[in-house]
Amino acid sequence: PIAVSRSYSIAAMGADGIGPEVVDAGVQVLSKLASLDGSFQLEFEDYDWSSDTYKKTGQYIPDGGLEKLKKHDAILFGAVGAPDVPDHLSLWGLRLAICQPFQQYANVRPTKIFRGTSSPLRNAEHGDLDWVIIRENSEGEYAGQGGRSHRGQPWETATEVSIFSRHAVQRIMEFAFEIAQKRPRKQLTVVTKSNAQRNGMVLWDEVALEVSKKFSDVKWDKMLVDAMTCRMVLDPKSIDTIVATNLHADILSDLAAALAGSIGIAPTSNLDPTRQNPSMFEPIHGSAFDITGKGVANPVATFWTASEMLAWLGEEEAAKKLMDAVETVTEKGVRTRDLGGSAGTQEVTDAVCAELERVF
Ligand code: ATP
Ligand code: MG
Repeated sequence: PIAVSRSYSIAAMGADGIGPEVVDAGVQVLSKLASLDGSFQLEFEDYDWSSDTYKKTGQYIPDGGLEKLKKHDAILFGAVGAPDVPDHLSLWGLRLAICQPFQQYANVRPTKIFRGTSSPLRNAEHGDLDWVIIRENSEGEYAGQGGRSHRGQPWETATEVSIFSRHAVQRIMEFAFEIAQKRPRKQLTVVTKSNAQRNGMVLWDEVALEVSKKFSDVKWDKMLVDAMTCRMVLDPKSIDTIVATNLHADILSDLAAALAGSIGIAPTSNLDPTRQNPSMFEPIHGSAFDITGKGVANPVATFWTASEMLAWLGEEEAAKKLMDAVETVTEKGVRTRDLGGSAGTQEVTDAVCAELERVF
């Protein structure tokens, strides 16, 4: 039922810290874009689920909340995490509590160097780094399996068990090959650590080989995760699409965001490729309480997030126009402090809206 109609219902959930500020900015540019375009409609519904509601009610998600959320076509999410709530509680209480029941098993993180911005890599510039990292988002090292014995004793032990099922490895691998196939270079790197981890990671290697046979036009290679970090820094142009486990891709995508210049620009999509549930789109940065309420948060990550959301909903053309407008504004020098500028959140938002007016 999702993505057939040209009117989309979006759940806007800013949650914690700068989340509400950047989601508000995202809703502003999306509303502007939809009204200028005129060929599709966006309806937003605000959700105030956050660490504040958790502190007041003991729940991040109210009773019956997920059923209500499920009715939307997509979720535009801000960030979760508060200084006075342990991180694992907030993460499992809200983000994963949506990702897991909604079967958002594919996490997609595009990375590139924007026009007019610089990368910490000495020789890399716009166009040299254009990656999509696909993260297995349902199991692996973050399956939540394990336990502790002999708490507090010198002989205490803890286990953190990784789960790799053929079912989940196969579906993420197929998804990754499909994404790679749609990109111009048709190239995929499968990242594992199968020299040291001899069960789950070897399963990944085997499934990759099987799935690759269905995608004969995709050029693919295998890489150990440690070697991959070196390649990302030393030879970024040789990389296009990457698929990796929950933990490995988590780390690689932070590295990727840093290499692209700022954590304030990078988006991530939590997708249910079966489209039975709404997918969730969010900037990769966290709640950033150090800058909350100051009006200086970079909204660009959320704009790119919004663009990814539109593309997923089938509005590819509008998605491209939005990204173009954002890059033009960044290139012109209307940037927040993390990108070396002095503009505030609203200034960047207004500039993107004005650029959209100009191109339509
Ligand atoms: P979390 O635990 O929620 O991931 P964190 O503190 O580990 O939070 P972030 O919230 O992402 O990580 O913040 C890391 C640093 O990056 C902070 O100094 C923050 O101010 C900065 N930062 C994060 N997002 C933005 C943004 N959108 N614009 C500007 N600076 C940002
Ligand atoms: Mg963090």
